[in-house]
Amino acid sequence: MLKTMKFGGTSVGSAEAIAAVVAIIEGELADGHQVAVIVSAMSGVTDMLHESVQKAIDGDKWGYLSISQDIRDKHEDAIYQLISAGDLRESILQRVNALVDKHQELCEAVNTLREATPRIWDAIVSFGERLSSRVIAAVLQERGINAQQFDASEFIVTNDIFRDADPIWDATEQRIVEKLQPALKNDVVPIITGFIGATCDGKITTLGRGGSDFSAAIFAAYLDSDELVIWTDVDGVMTTDPRIDKRAKVLPYVSYTEVGELAYYGAKVLHPKTVQPIVEKAIALRVRNTFNPSHPGTVIGAESKASHTVIKAVTSIRSVSMLTVSGKGMLGVPGIAGRTFLATAQAGASILMISQSSSEQSFCFTIVDAHAPTVKAAVEDELAAEISHRDVDSVDVLSDIVIVTVVGSGMRHQPGIAGRVFTRMGDSGVNVLAIAQGSSECSISFVVAGKDLKHAVTKLHDLALESVEVVGA
Ligand code: ADP
Ligand code: ASP
Ligand code: MG
Repeated sequence: MLKTMKFGGTSVGSAEAIAAVVAIIEGELADGHQVAVIVSAMSGVTDMLHESVQKAIDGDKWGYLSISQDIRDKHEDAIYQLISAGDLRESILQRVNALVDKHQELCEAVNTLREATPRIWDAIVSFGERLSSRVIAAVLQERGINAQQFDASEFIVTNDIFRDADPIWDATEQRIVEKLQPALKNDVVPIITGFIGATCDGKITTLGRGGSDFSAAIFAAYLDSDELVIWTDVDGVMTTDPRIDKRAKVLPYVSYTEVGELAYYGAKVLHPKTVQPIVEKAIALRVRNTFNPSHPGTVIGAESKASHTVIKAVTSIRSVSMLTVSGKGMLGVPGIAGRTFLATAQAGASILMISQSSSEQSFCFTIVDAHAPTVKAAVEDELAAEISHRDVDSVDVLSDIVIVTVVGSGMRHQPGIAGRVFTRMGDSGVNVLAIAQGSSECSISFVVAGKDLKHAVTKLHDLALESVEVVGA
């Protein structure tokens, strides 16, 4: 059986964590499985790399040099603890140092120019995975495993939307089949960088924050894996973010559709695009805990299984802004919404949720806070004629709000769920600002003020906990 396994930032974040990863890989090999491994950067490193770019833009040379030194120390520490003195240790130290030196050089270039193009930004943040994968491959070699490090930029061909690139599927498939499958056939254990790809002319891109899950799914699909396992720092996909409500329980099973909604609406445990590459091939997906490997975790599959509760999980997205376009003259005028959404897309923002009042006199949509000023200006520009004719009165922005989403495929056939959700919010004194139901009918999202987040999530989580099936409780 071929298992593609992805280890997240915390799972590779220290020498102890890497030792746990090694034990899991050794266990799978001992059971006779083949494994392909995708790794994230050590926890905190991607943030540090982002910060180093910002420091370089600001001309803070001491700032980026000290970050670079911290990154060097973090990796060297792991190497000293996990690889004994000798040639292997020397060669991996050399490779790590060469990469960190390159990081400094790129920061120097940014410092000189005082600006960073998206392309150089991606080149710099790619170092996290390039470093961690080399260290982990060396640790496995030290243990006598035939591991070999690979940069995913050799395989994942993407478009040139730097910082949020999408794969070009055919070219990616071809490279994985031609270049990586043979290594597996030769019993190599590939240790591959998550998060990164490259344009067809070889410029490094990244797949967006948290993108290593997506990378792993791409490899799982084109290596024809029997299973994709996302190893992380919690026991599985839970009824809500355990950092918001400690009562969160592991869900034994969720469907691809449910997990897609959960991830899209803020459950950080999986990147929203993770299921995309594996749905068609119906590859089994499992989320498991590196630090508690005896727990079975969550299985994610095609079948939508009913659970005892209709609401399976509650998620939230913070730091969101809601834009409302309103005007009495909008009634029956076609195209205003379409043009607004196009202007939003052209301003580089994705819309998280849309809602329209039935009178057609206003509609609202939500985007992340950071994009709000640019999108407001772009929409006002697009609707300038309607605004001057008073067909559109205003484009208003409400910032610091959150989107709360309840997810569960059973909702589709159950009347009254929305009623229960909003009654619960009303009874709890939470003011709901806008509502939308996903087209899959397996989620309901709504907007509340930022200050109400914890209260709203906790009160709805009560509904999810009422009779949920619980693993390992
Ligand atoms: P990794 O570094 O392994 O990719 P992430 O930090 O990206 O891990 O994702 C795991 C984290 O997601 C957990 O520590 C948890 O706090 C958070 N999380 C948010 N919502 C959920 C949820 N519904 N189920 C499980 N974890 C969740
Ligand atoms: N290291 C990247 C990030 O922190 C990708 C990932 O970990 O999935 O966003
Ligand atoms: Mg993650």
